[in-house]
Amino acid sequence: MTSQTTVKTLLILGASGDLTGRLLLPGLARLVATGRAAGLRLVGAGSDPWTPEQWRDRVRTSFAASAKSASPDGLRALEDLEKETVYHQLDVTAGGALASLLTTLEGPTAVYFALPPRISQLACEALRPDEVPPGTRLVMEKPFGSSEESARSLNHTLVRLVPEDHIHRVDHFLGKATVLNILGLRFANNFLEPVWNREHVEKVEIIFDEDLALEGRARYYDGAGALRDMIQSHLLQIMALMAMEPPSSISERDLRDAVSTVLRASSVPAPYAASTRRARYTSGTVAGKDVPDYAKEDGVDASRGTETLAQIQVGIDNWRWKGVPFILRSGKAMGVKRKEAVVTFRPVPHLPKGFTGVDSPNQLRIGFGPDTLEFDVDVNGPGEILSLSRVTLEAELSASELLPYGEVLEGVLTGDPLLSVRGDTAEDCWRIVEPVLKAWQQDTVPLEEYDAGSSGPAELSRSVRAE
Ligand code: NDP
Repeated sequence: MTSQTTVKTLLILGASGDLTGRLLLPGLARLVATGRAAGLRLVGAGSDPWTPEQWRDRVRTSFAASAKSASPDGLRALEDLEKETVYHQLDVTAGGALASLLTTLEGPTAVYFALPPRISQLACEALRPDEVPPGTRLVMEKPFGSSEESARSLNHTLVRLVPEDHIHRVDHFLGKATVLNILGLRFANNFLEPVWNREHVEKVEIIFDEDLALEGRARYYDGAGALRDMIQSHLLQIMALMAMEPPSSISERDLRDAVSTVLRASSVPAPYAASTRRARYTSGTVAGKDVPDYAKEDGVDASRGTETLAQIQVGIDNWRWKGVPFILRSGKAMGVKRKEAVVTFRPVPHLPKGFTGVDSPNQLRIGFGPDTLEFDVDVNGPGEILSLSRVTLEAELSASELLPYGEVLEGVLTGDPLLSVRGDTAEDCWRIVEPVLKAWQQDTVPLEEYDAGSSGPAELSRSVRAE
């Protein structure tokens, strides 16, 4: 597939950083190798005095995996990009530095802020609107602000520089295929949508349990924790797709309006000791590997009480969902990896007398990465015809040939903000979690413990029932 990008130059600020090397450049490589970024130029910038060759080496190393499997055309495209890429040393927070670089680049330019959040903010504050060439796109990483107020203030800074649809707030967790898989399933099947409401759904769980522990990321993670890192951004976005009203089209406007409407109706009900849980792992074993106690890891300040597992129950105050709990959970160092949305239906109003066997409620499960679908159905037999048993219908959903960051970059380079989080939504996601963060800070909700490699603190899966 070939596609013409509307962006001519991708400028990566933070050329020497972890995100750039581990995720951005490999994501870009796959995109380029599949012919979807024809004619693009790549420019790296950072505060290090790198030689052009140092930067080119980094690009080459990150492109290597895609180069191996690329077609001859793809390989040529990768080599061309690599040959022409240049590096600029600059302090992006110094007045005029970024602005003068922008004037030398062939526009339109996408400026990717792969920088610490504070530096990105200072860099944007240092830019004047008249210094930003028309058509420029600004790509902001998570976390976007640290509270509703700071997200609003960052939004003000950005819309001063470029229009809202030229701002890309990245959520790499929700690749385009995943978003479309959820929407296709929900809105292209007439048997599902009529039961997708409080009459028939008992609860919806959105779970991201990972077996990875801290993995040396204390500097970032100990200041964030599971609620900010996973739930505030990624899981609330998935919840919105699961809960939103049917959009008229899959255009950016219709879809992002629907996401924003449902999030505006969402909140975590007090008291938070009943609607939320937080926990931190202690030492244990995950997949045969010893994992040290989180609190004793290098760089962790145990007195901060950072949670490695967070669970919140969100209520959606609208006609469709009033009273149905949406349970969002993410945990680190868990014994079993789970990345799925689970819809639990209410039991049938009356099971005809005479049937025996399974009477547990049906569940529909959407797995993420790889995207899968499982649907529980009760059927007769086998053997005794009156005895019901559970079978699971399974399907694999479409996967993207791009890496998650390739999908993010494709949206940026083709000028499609569909996948990026809109400004009002970014603020709302903070509004939803902020009261919980405050309650946790005040110790209103106890910090529990769980062994690394276990299934979390006791009774984690305690059942939450709809009203
Ligand atoms: P790093 O600390 O690894 O890299 C930050 C980069 O910013 C470095 O290249 C650094 O260059 C550069 N930098 C710092 N100050 C300046 C300055 N004044 N002018 C120019 N360049 C500067 O951070 P990450 O790559 O891990 O993270 C970047 C962003 O991506 C953050 O917002 C993070 O939250 C987000 N993110 C990161 C993920 C990851 O897995 N790493 C995952 C998801 C999001 P130098 O060393 O030369 O100062």
